[in-house]
Amino acid sequence: MAAPLLTIDLDALASNWRTLARQMAGETGAVVKADAYGLGAAQVAPRLAREGARTFFVALAEEGAALRRILGEGPNICVFNGHMEGDAPLIRDARLVPMLNSIDQMVMHVEALPGHPFGIQLDSGMNRLGMEPAEWAALRDIATQQAPELIMSHLACADDPSHAMNAHQLRVFREMTDDIDAPRSLSATGGILLGPDYQFDVARPGIGLYGGLPFVDAVPVAHLDVPVIQVRDVAPGESVGYGNTWIAERPSRIATIAAGYADGLHRIMGPEAWVYAGESRCKVVGRVSMDLIGVDVTDAGTVPDTVEVLGRHQSIDTVADAAGTIGYEILTALGPRYRRRYVGS
Ligand SMILES: *Cc1c(COP(=O)(O)O)cnc(C)c1O
Repeated sequence: MAAPLLTIDLDALASNWRTLARQMAGETGAVVKADAYGLGAAQVAPRLAREGARTFFVALAEEGAALRRILGEGPNICVFNGHMEGDAPLIRDARLVPMLNSIDQMVMHVEALPGHPFGIQLDSGMNRLGMEPAEWAALRDIATQQAPELIMSHLACADDPSHAMNAHQLRVFREMTDDIDAPRSLSATGGILLGPDYQFDVARPGIGLYGGLPFVDAVPVAHLDVPVIQVRDVAPGESVGYGNTWIAERPSRIATIAAGYADGLHRIMGPEAWVYAGESRCKVVGRVSMDLIGVDVTDAGTVPDTVEVLGRHQSIDTVADAAGTIGYEILTALGPRYRRRYVGS
């Protein structure tokens, strides 16, 4: 079979959740938006629920409705984008908790679904989602009378513990919420690691669960093994791939592997990327094609049937560095063409 194999280790996922949960004074939820960062909400979310996660976060009401079918009754499902036009039936039928981002969303929600639970998202400085301090000042008495399920905000720079923005946002969030009697949430993965001041009642880790930075102690969850289709000898002066961008300087052995930019291995990573043939680190050579990549296996000895792109030797963040991006984007870009295998109990 030529399709690359994406193995998703559910035990590693569970272990990452537990490691983060142990550092939290309050409750540890789980962010499973974008199909659990591309790894499959249908497998990821039930495993995290079994581990003890009771509050799940998604971006869209549609994702929330799908997640409710996966998880059944019980867990809370919060929707970051709040209550958008047309969402009321989904929110009602799937018993979702929209995190209301504006006065307009608040009005829409209470008119469409009076008495239906909601949360509040506040903007503490990121200027992306949530009510700003002035808006919140106008609404907070009405909102708090109706007992929001959760009041949250989001940190812009939590992956950099030394960034002054963290303390600034913490101060703003406290000013906006200190005298309110509702559960609070400020931290995603990075915020949990900033320590107890940032943790509040509920944490919202995403990337750390899936094995990515800034959670340096994360165990890898995604393993990607790509079949070698052909191996050929290339003489000095010969080129490999589109545009002749790589020219052999020595007698070389080149393996052609069965994945490319259509599988989320971005074209831009070509000049910086490596894969592993067994224990040997092998350079990607030439341009990344849609379905194929050339790899220099000259020094690898016996060429294995598959090479490792993600896994024990190489993290999502290493591959992300080669593409000038972040682990989040590598995970969510992994294409639909992989064979997927879930391991772990
Ligand atoms: C995506 C997201 C998270 C999860 O962030 P990670 O950095 O992946 O842990 C938490 N909160 C909000 C509002 C988000 O958009």
